[in-house]
Amino acid sequence: MTVVVIDERLEKAYQDVVRRNPAEAEFHQAVREVLESLGPVLAKRPDFADSRIIERICEPERQIIFRVVWQNDAGEVEVNRGFRVQFNSALGPYKGGLRFHPSVYLGIIKFLGFEQIFKNALTGMPIGGAKGGSDFDPKGRSDGEVMRFCQAFMTELYRHLGEYRDVPAGDIGVGAREIGYLFGQFKRIANEYESGVLTGKGLGWGGSLVRKEATGYGAVFFAREMLAVRGQELEGQTCLVSGSGNVAIYTIEKLHALGAKAIACSDSSGFVVDEDGIDVELLKQVKEVERRRVSEYATRKPKARFVPGGNIWEVPATVAFPSATQNEINGHDAKLLVKNGCIAVCEGANMPTTPDGIRVFQEAKIAYGLGKAANAGGVATSALEMQQNASRDYWSFEYTEARLQKIMSEIHRVCYETAAEYGSPGDYVLGANIAGFLKVADAMDAFGLI
Ligand code: NDP
Repeated sequence: MTVVVIDERLEKAYQDVVRRNPAEAEFHQAVREVLESLGPVLAKRPDFADSRIIERICEPERQIIFRVVWQNDAGEVEVNRGFRVQFNSALGPYKGGLRFHPSVYLGIIKFLGFEQIFKNALTGMPIGGAKGGSDFDPKGRSDGEVMRFCQAFMTELYRHLGEYRDVPAGDIGVGAREIGYLFGQFKRIANEYESGVLTGKGLGWGGSLVRKEATGYGAVFFAREMLAVRGQELEGQTCLVSGSGNVAIYTIEKLHALGAKAIACSDSSGFVVDEDGIDVELLKQVKEVERRRVSEYATRKPKARFVPGGNIWEVPATVAFPSATQNEINGHDAKLLVKNGCIAVCEGANMPTTPDGIRVFQEAKIAYGLGKAANAGGVATSALEMQQNASRDYWSFEYTEARLQKIMSEIHRVCYETAAEYGSPGDYVLGANIAGFLKVADAMDAFGLI
């Protein structure tokens, strides 16, 4: 791996993070990526070094770890671990999703929570950064098991939540079903119908239109903006979309609506190629309704093929939307994409590209939209859901989507202009990290030593 040399003070801050958070590789990676962007900021604002803002931002305000005990369908007792890292509340109540996946441990939650601080700042909405979850694996579990797990999880988490305190949403393994069970248990314990305490709710009970679609749609809007400033169009592009969950499905849907074609998607067992373009209604049926594997898609679409264990980034295409999980594109995959003619990468997932992969994209000078900017449409629309809850209002699909589109184009503009101001036009990594950081750092500065 190429190691980028950073400012001595930043290197020291990074080494402190590594020392205080041992064996949390994903968290170290997320911190390093941000710190690598901050050299030019410290040069302009030496006061940030004096007030140790960077060290303070890298330390979560609060970390909650708890036991979750529940009973499976066989009557056996199961024990999981729950997490909520309330990272930063300078701009508003803690906000960020819950992930249920067997790979979850403190380092994953911290990396996601750290990213969330800057992403939420970029949305321009009044929300702080947090993330939570559990090592519980909902895959293959009955609805009853998922419900009992969610109830046990919320029985501890509820005391840390509130519409002015901390507002979780979904992430990997947490969709509409899980949010329903979590909200039901919160309501039961709190004895209050506090709609604004969770987002991603069902449409009949406080949810917002477009929230389900928002992350995927937003990533596509961001890609369109990145191409537009280079004089290129999204229409007519051939796209790869990894994953086949919430983000992937609605990325594909919007790509097709805007005249591009998504020809492949995946899950952890392999990928599907459909040269006609992925049939998004069939994909929804397989994944959202029947909760089956993506391979099932190919059994129902004769022209599609499933490649078990395959690497989706080997498929030639012009735009890539990594929308599954962290570190799913390494340096090798990035080189393959570039070699096959990829002109843009837009991240629906959080931190899907390794540092080596990012350097390949930057050296090839292709448009690279990092997750904390490109996938911010989900949390931005969560904030719109909170606005509707607070005003007891309910907005139309068209109005909410127009708001989302405006927010994405504003995020793009801010990242683009900030990168140019700091001497690296077109570098969205630099632009997003600096713009997000400045907003949070200025607020923290105003609050005194917190
Ligand atoms: P879902 O649970 O709906 O879907 C996740 C998809 O990614 C599934 O197809 C899953 O396949 C695949 N996947 C997950 N883990 C792995 C893995 N270790 N290896 C290979 N494939 C994997 O999650 P979302 O669509 O909500 O989230 C996807 C990404 O987008 C995550 O990085 C998330 O943090 C990010 N994100 C989500 C937002 C949202 O609003 N939902 C907002 C912003 C970012 P399988 O079923 O085989 O595990």
